[in-house]
Amino acid sequence: HNCCSSTARRAGQRAPLDVVCEISYVMVKPDGVQRGLVGEIIGRFERKGFKLKALQMRKCTREIAEEHYKDLKEKPFFKDLVDYILSGPVVAMVWEGNGVVASARKLIGATNPLNAEPGTIRGDLAIQTGRNVVHGSDSPDNGERETGLWFQGDATVEWSQTIQPWLTE
Ligand code: ADP
Repeated sequence: HNCCSSTARRAGQRAPLDVVCEISYVMVKPDGVQRGLVGEIIGRFERKGFKLKALQMRKCTREIAEEHYKDLKEKPFFKDLVDYILSGPVVAMVWEGNGVVASARKLIGATNPLNAEPGTIRGDLAIQTGRNVVHGSDSPDNGERETGLWFQGDATVEWSQTIQPWLTE
């Protein structure tokens, strides 16, 4: 995928060393969709300065849900987790930008919403681990893996964000 600093790259410059361009797979889970929180959640990533590269409302299949959460297959809550993800439509997104993976995790907050800081999505909007409204990739590798899983082929969009020079030098 493109680097964050497309203007700098067009000018043949290297991005500053503190710019780490990544993508994160972010998903509004079925409870977030049902509760009317889609716009609120998208808005937080937009206002932060990240670039939206893919967006799709969809019902997922059991295969995709199980593959997405394959690292949790041995957990006692795995079946309930997959059923939860299948319980209604989700909004699947890919966000790109400097340090987006760790930043998205901070914006989202702790897995248990009761432990999530006020100001985070889960801290502000949820009260239980099993209904924590949003997902964000936990590593750059998983950002790539989950993007490939949910957006197969060319479903992510390459575009130049004209405000980019005001976001990263
Ligand atoms: P995160 O989503 O914060 O990265 P994990 O990867 O540990 O958290 O877990 C994935 C998802 O599984 C959580 O967001 C939550 O929906 C669900 N989950 C995790 N732990 C539990 C639990 N103890 N009980 C029920 N659901 C859980």
